[in-house]
Amino acid sequence: MLLLPQNIKPTQAALDKLAEFQQAVYAAGSYALQVEAAKQHFKAKNVKRNGTFRAVKKALTDMCSGARRCVYCEDSVGDEVEHIYPKDFYPNLVFVWENYLYACGNCNGPKSNRFEIFDPLTLAVVDLKITAPTEIPVGAALLINPRVESGMDYMMLDLEDTFMFVPLPNQSTTNQQRAERTIEILHLSDRDFLQEARRNAFNSYKAQLFEYVHSKALGANPDKLEAMINNIRRASHPSVWFEMKRYFQNGWLPKIDEELQQLFEKAIVDDVLNW
Ligand SMILES: [Zn+2]
Repeated sequence: MLLLPQNIKPTQAALDKLAEFQQAVYAAGSYALQVEAAKQHFKAKNVKRNGTFRAVKKALTDMCSGARRCVYCEDSVGDEVEHIYPKDFYPNLVFVWENYLYACGNCNGPKSNRFEIFDPLTLAVVDLKITAPTEIPVGAALLINPRVESGMDYMMLDLEDTFMFVPLPNQSTTNQQRAERTIEILHLSDRDFLQEARRNAFNSYKAQLFEYVHSKALGANPDKLEAMINNIRRASHPSVWFEMKRYFQNGWLPKIDEELQQLFEKAIVDDVLNW
C-alpha cells in the first residue's frame, strides 16, 4: 500500500459540486442529523448518471495501479468509492475529494465503518464503533491513509517466505499499532489468494526486469526499453515491486535470490530504483 499520486484531481467543476453537496450535509443540523444526511446524500449522488461522480471516478481510476486495482489489496478491481474516514462518523468528509479512494468489495466490506483513533491526551486506542461519538471525533487515525502517506513506511512484505505484510521492526509504539491495525482491518495478511497473487507478482516483476536487462544487452531500441519500464510502473501489486527494490537497497536480496540481485545491479545505471 503505497502513497497515491498527489497530482491527480477531478475537474474543478466536479470539485465545486462536491463542495456544494457538502454544504447540504452541514445544513442538516445536529451531528446525528448530519450523519444521516451524509449517508442519504452520498447514496443519491454516487450513481452512474451523476456527472460529478463520473469525474470523481475517472480521477480515482487514474490513481490505481494496473487495470484499476484496489488501492488496499492491489489485487481485485477497485469499484467502490471508499471513504477513508467513514461517513458514519465523519459527515464533514463525505463529499471531500481527499477522503476518497477506489477499493474492492472484499476490502471495503469488512472495513465498512470500523475505525479507530488515538485519544489526543492519553494516546489510548478509541474504537469509534464502540464509543459511538456524538460529535466529529478528534484524534489521529490508526488506519494508514494512502492519500497522504505510504503504508510501506510502517509495514513490510515478507518476500522470503510468506508474502504477508508485517509491521516494520524497530518503530515507535504508535506506528507499530497503526501497522498492526491496518493489516488486521484490511485483512492484508490473512487471505491466501493475496499471498499467492503477491508471489506471482514477484515472479512477473523479476521476469520483466530480466527481459529489460537482456533486451538492452542485445541492443533493443530506446522506445522499446522505455515501454518496458512503463509496464513495470503500471503493473498491479506495486508494493511488491517497492519491496523488491528495498530488499536490494538493504542488501537482503542475495540471501533469497542471487539472480534477482544481479539483475538489479545491471539495471542500476538505468535508474531502476526510480521505476
Ligand atoms: Zn481490495
